[in-house]
Amino acid sequence: MVPFHVDYLIVGSGFAGLTVAERLATQCGKRVFVVDRRSHLGGNAYDFYDAHGVLIHAYGPHYFRTNSKLIRNYLSLFTEWHPVEYKILSHAENRYWNFPINLNTFEQFFGRPSTSEEMEQWLSEHRVPIESPANSEEVIISQVGWELYEKFFKGYTLKQWKRHPRDLDASVCGRIPIRTNRDDRYLREEFQALPKEGYTRMFEKMVEAAGDHLTLQLNTDYRDLLSSVSFDHMIYTGAIDDYFHYCYGPLPYRSLRFEPQSFTPEQLVTREEISGKKGYWQPAMQVNYPNEESFTRIVEIKHATGQQCENTTIVREYPDDYEPGKEAYYPIPAPDAAALYQRYKALADQEKNTSFIGRLATYRYYNMDQVVGMALTEFNKLASKI
Ligand code: FAD
Ligand code: UDP
Repeated sequence: MVPFHVDYLIVGSGFAGLTVAERLATQCGKRVFVVDRRSHLGGNAYDFYDAHGVLIHAYGPHYFRTNSKLIRNYLSLFTEWHPVEYKILSHAENRYWNFPINLNTFEQFFGRPSTSEEMEQWLSEHRVPIESPANSEEVIISQVGWELYEKFFKGYTLKQWKRHPRDLDASVCGRIPIRTNRDDRYLREEFQALPKEGYTRMFEKMVEAAGDHLTLQLNTDYRDLLSSVSFDHMIYTGAIDDYFHYCYGPLPYRSLRFEPQSFTPEQLVTREEISGKKGYWQPAMQVNYPNEESFTRIVEIKHATGQQCENTTIVREYPDDYEPGKEAYYPIPAPDAAALYQRYKALADQEKNTSFIGRLATYRYYNMDQVVGMALTEFNKLASKI
């Protein structure tokens, strides 16, 4: 049989794969073949309506945010936006705390009204002076001291990563803002919004834009296509160690287990006192559980999507050890993992006619916008050679 020939074989239909596929198809008129081993588009950002009619994020909460106009404008070709100020809470010692740490948290901590000046003074007396924090413990104690670190960060991080915060890059806990004013948004970026009709609809529109320049095949490992599809160039967005058959041993990842639970309006009546709102189970879209529970967070994404729906669904998120066969959700930002990745990267650099982009192929704890940025850069590089 003569193989079906395309210009580009794109492995993975997440943000990385679909961005570069759409651009090559629509801007350069190239023929692209997108393959994914999952049964749906969108990679980890996939969302869907569950059996109770609630739009949920299948692989954990995905809060879109960006400071980049370029990335926002690009995605705006395929979606309108539902603005959201992502707000969360932390639950410890049997009560809810304002989080990330801000003046409201400080007031809860002392049980009385306070001021930014008072909080700054307290922090200056408690923070541990460290000029250049080298790990995730140092980055937090150098901002807020031991007590708040132990209350909100240490247990959560140990659970999530099964590593001590000292053994993780400073960037991991350094993602979380700490403020002395009343700004309690979880994220720092200027633009914070969700695709109005959900991520999956946005991905479908990217595919539709590419028209018949794009062939999509789901439920298929790319290796099973190699005898039936030929191509000039491959863009690979899967795990880099998998691509090289784990020749240097597996890279470390963290996995997750999601436990959804749905509620009808009748079941929610008893929760109204806690959630403060009819039709919701908890008082915020996300509540973190740093210490007492074995899950790290409970997400009720309906708070963020703004979906009008009588039922609701919450998802408990349990960190899990990774082993082949499970999803490799998180690359581990730590020096030992980075060293092993560099060995795989050296192999990738020698690979002819193959690009490695995305969170797993470059082994980076990247947000969605950063992945889109990386894919647009790769597209420009490829387009300049055409
Ligand atoms: P992926 O989405 O992982 O897509 C890769 C695709 O490749 C997958 O669909 C996979 O099935 C496919 N694939 C792999 N190997 C093969 C193979 N051999 N053959 C065929 N197909 C293959 N980012 C944010 O900006 N905000 C958030 O709030 C946020 N929350 C997150 C929460 C969780 C729990 C996780 C895990 C991630 C979160 N992210 C968030 C990060 C976000 O998911 C990623 O940045 C983004 O989805 C990465 O896109 P990608 O295309 O690189 O990879
Ligand atoms: N973190 C923490 N306590 C919290 C929230 C976050 O210690 O209440 C740490 C933890 O190590 C986590 C990291 O900060 O993995 C980044 O948190 P984020 O919520 O951004 O994680 P993600 O959504 O990427 O899983």
